[in-house]
Amino acid sequence: MILRVAIDAPLLQLFDYLPPASGDARPGCRVRVPFGRGQRVGLVVAIAAESTLPSGKLRRAFALLDAAPLLDAEMLALLEWAAGYYQHPPGEVYATALPVLLRAGRTTDAGALIWRITTDGREALLAGEPRRAPAQRRVLESLGAAAAGLGSAALARLSATWPAAVRALEGRGWVRREREDGWVSEPVAADRPPALNPAQAAAVQDIAAARGFQPFLVQGITGSGKTEVYLHAIAAALAAGRQSLVLVPEIGLTPQLVARFRRRFPDTGIVVLHSGLTDTERLTAWLRARDGRAGIVIGTRSAIFTPLQQAGLIVVDEEHDGSFKQQEGFRYSARDLAVWRARQLGVPILLGSATPSLESLANAEAGRYRRLRLPERAGSAKPPAVQLVDLRRQIATDGLSPPLVAAIGRHLDAGGQVLLYLNRRGFAPTLLCTDCGKCLECTRCDARLVLHLRERRLTCHHCDAMRPIPDHCPHCQGPLYPVGQGTERLESALAALFPNHPLLRIDRDTTRARGEIERRLAAVAAGEARILLGTQMLTKGHDFPLVTLVGIVDADQGLFGADFRASERLAQTFVQVAGRAGRSERAGEVVLQTLFPDHPLLRLLVSEGYERFAAAALAERRAAGWPPYSHLALLRADATTRNGALDFLAAARTLAESLESMGVRLLGPAPAPMEKRGGRYRAQLVAESSDRARLQQFIGRWRPALEQLAGARRNRWSLDVDPVELY
Ligand code: ADP
Ligand code: ZN
Repeated sequence: MILRVAIDAPLLQLFDYLPPASGDARPGCRVRVPFGRGQRVGLVVAIAAESTLPSGKLRRAFALLDAAPLLDAEMLALLEWAAGYYQHPPGEVYATALPVLLRAGRTTDAGALIWRITTDGREALLAGEPRRAPAQRRVLESLGAAAAGLGSAALARLSATWPAAVRALEGRGWVRREREDGWVSEPVAADRPPALNPAQAAAVQDIAAARGFQPFLVQGITGSGKTEVYLHAIAAALAAGRQSLVLVPEIGLTPQLVARFRRRFPDTGIVVLHSGLTDTERLTAWLRARDGRAGIVIGTRSAIFTPLQQAGLIVVDEEHDGSFKQQEGFRYSARDLAVWRARQLGVPILLGSATPSLESLANAEAGRYRRLRLPERAGSAKPPAVQLVDLRRQIATDGLSPPLVAAIGRHLDAGGQVLLYLNRRGFAPTLLCTDCGKCLECTRCDARLVLHLRERRLTCHHCDAMRPIPDHCPHCQGPLYPVGQGTERLESALAALFPNHPLLRIDRDTTRARGEIERRLAAVAAGEARILLGTQMLTKGHDFPLVTLVGIVDADQGLFGADFRASERLAQTFVQVAGRAGRSERAGEVVLQTLFPDHPLLRLLVSEGYERFAAAALAERRAAGWPPYSHLALLRADATTRNGALDFLAAARTLAESLESMGVRLLGPAPAPMEKRGGRYRAQLVAESSDRARLQQFIGRWRPALEQLAGARRNRWSLDVDPVELY
């Protein structure tokens, strides 16, 4: 018998070991194994009859770390599939699914499962039971003596067959399984769900009627009550004794959402998985989900790898959001894996958005997803009115045109809150010499340095390089001028224009301290801040009921992006930002400043809405053969010289051409749109096919062969399957 073990290492393979001297090492259990000259914790993913290694080379695992599998067959299948689909080293993929402490070999005992003797058990012991089962007898005696109960590690020391013994004792009611992680939910005041409007009720009914796997695209305009639909579907799952997994873009930004879930389900265990947890908290949350004690699991991208004992429903909120795709290392799409997982679990999945990705829209069009529309705002709210301000005819001062300033004044006077969106941190994106016309640039990136006035420095937003602000142009000693605006400049301008209205800036610079986002969002919700100003942090899913005016300060950012997804992203941002206006009784208004009021995308979006825009964008993608009508894998490389990356990719292309790759097209190699970053030169090579299976077949042979290329070790490179950023 051979154990096939996943070890967290950047190698595209599993490792074979002989089983440890004792214990039943099943798939899903961890083992401690010799690795090179050291030792590692690995995960058994399969048992094989034989190994390709000669038997003399096979080493024996030192020890089994888990008496029972940590991961069940469903999770193992998900991870195996993901490692193959994304062509990523399996050890790193499996590691993604385990909390750090488990990866390090820690037992699951802490705050985990313990067994206690029951009153019946004590009586049985006094009566001399169990008579003919020495292992059971030993276990029951020890439990009788352990007031606090015993965990699996302690039981394993008593008997190698303790799981069977404990099961038998449990069956007779003599011992009881408990959790000792001190999970006490804080008491919260329950809310009463609003009466659903007809569209919501129809959606809830459709979901309830689903049997087994069924993807739904919940397409509802902002504020249409999508979350309310999720809550109903989750309630139904809970009533059936099943868990729900809810994926959200960025949890730090949505404390409101979590609070809403807690109020709705005050008696349900809810775990929230996000990057701010300590390792111990993460392990505890993971165990609660895995053991079925958590009825609801809410988390960001990586929560897709949370084991669930009784899964009943998966929800992906804001499914279009780019954060569901991991952009480094194991480059998976949590949304796509969620659909795969739902199919495997045989449960419904809700993909919700006001601005669905073109991928999901195409899936709905093709009948693969069932579409649930919520065309109207919930309650009494009405969609906002949109006004375009032509910046060619209006002189903007510090980025603010007279019509926008007037609108801000009007809404403030009427007691409304105002939200201004500008996706650019700092004071000004450029420091320009008015004599020689040069801008100050980062020496390590093809990018301009951004002026941060308050911190008194220039910063590169790509490599984080910092420099003092020079007094004169370093090229010609001419005077320097800040050109363009960032949130910091806008903040000063607004403070001068509206000195009597409290102002709050929310961007990465003002929210670095722990808990700062929550504090600022709370001030917004309480109505303390009247003007809020920020980057895309402000656009995601917040329900700000007091906001009546949204100003999009620079609509032209991204209008001419190099990426074929640029217009999709821009449209999503517009609609999402605009959707923050007028979410309750007060009517909302949106002011959009642009130099290109005739741009077809803006026109279509403003006059016809997202859905018409998306239909046009899909037609363009189809004509151009871009996703979702084709499938991509992107090979990126970077090197210390310009040719280093390009040469490696040229070799990768030659290699690709030598493989039988029918139906796969290669584009490139080409330098990245921003070639130099952090002192390294970047380039890319795209493999494209209209047939996903063919592309998969191709990269399944290409990726391992790439490692054998001469430059494979000298250059940094990565393969990104279904990339969302073309660099
Ligand atoms: P979405 O998730 O689509 O943005 P939400 O579910 O957050 O929308 O709903 C927006 C607002 O409308 C919330 O304040 C919510 O409490 C309220 N709401 C949702 N459904 C209803 C309803 N049927 N009746 C009244 N208010 C509702
Ligand atoms: Zn830089």
